[in-house]
Amino acid sequence: MSELSRHDVLTGGGAAALGLAALLGAPGGASAQGTSKAAPAGVSGLAGVIPGAVDENGAYVLPPLPYEYSAVSEFCDEQTMRLHHDKHHAGYVRGLIGAEAKMAEARESGDFTNIDYWERKAAFHGAGHFLHCVFWSSMSPDGGGDATGNLAGQIKKDFGSTKQLVAHFSAASKSVEGSGWGILGWSIGGQKLVVLQAMNHQLLTQWAVVPLICLDVWEHAYYLKYQNNRGAYVENFPKVIDWKHVGERFEMLMG
Ligand code: MN
Repeated sequence: MSELSRHDVLTGGGAAALGLAALLGAPGGASAQGTSKAAPAGVSGLAGVIPGAVDENGAYVLPPLPYEYSAVSEFCDEQTMRLHHDKHHAGYVRGLIGAEAKMAEARESGDFTNIDYWERKAAFHGAGHFLHCVFWSSMSPDGGGDATGNLAGQIKKDFGSTKQLVAHFSAASKSVEGSGWGILGWSIGGQKLVVLQAMNHQLLTQWAVVPLICLDVWEHAYYLKYQNNRGAYVENFPKVIDWKHVGERFEMLMG
């Protein structure tokens, strides 16, 4: 099965393959437009970067594997693939939907007593969902060999060679403390490919989120003026949010 067609199986559109290229850092991948399938309203044109994570309505779904459960058995056995996808990954999708529902209830009632609990659940299950979507789609029974095209050029620039990237990625993956992931990612801030480790997999992020508004709550950001009163510092932040600029950056993402 060709590269494009297996992603078509996964997400129903050629845009998905371009989206994965964007995640992996192929120059121009993120802006590659003109694909036959425009993203529906409310779904970013970059949705294919995390292949199959949401359906056409933007609801979280468990994407089917883009190959048979036994297809990558030289790497992982069929039974493990079946349990991992059908049980573990499905659990993340359910957990993410549930956590977001609980946070919606909190907004409705105004009772945020348990918000840190549900934020932790959303990070755990969201990171699990998005990273597994990328994991499945990173493999193919026809895989192996070297990177090609623009991605190969970017790897040469940032790592020297695919061999050196793989050596770095493998060492990072082997030395993650406890459970976690090795990740090759495109750094939007640094405009280059980076290898990162994730412990567990969330640490309160979901790994597929572009920051739109950030508030620094390290003590150095507020201690001279507020001392230990982080609450007052946080309460004053909305007075200075530049919604116009945030809106412009949101429009960039929606393409
Ligand atoms: Mn897993």
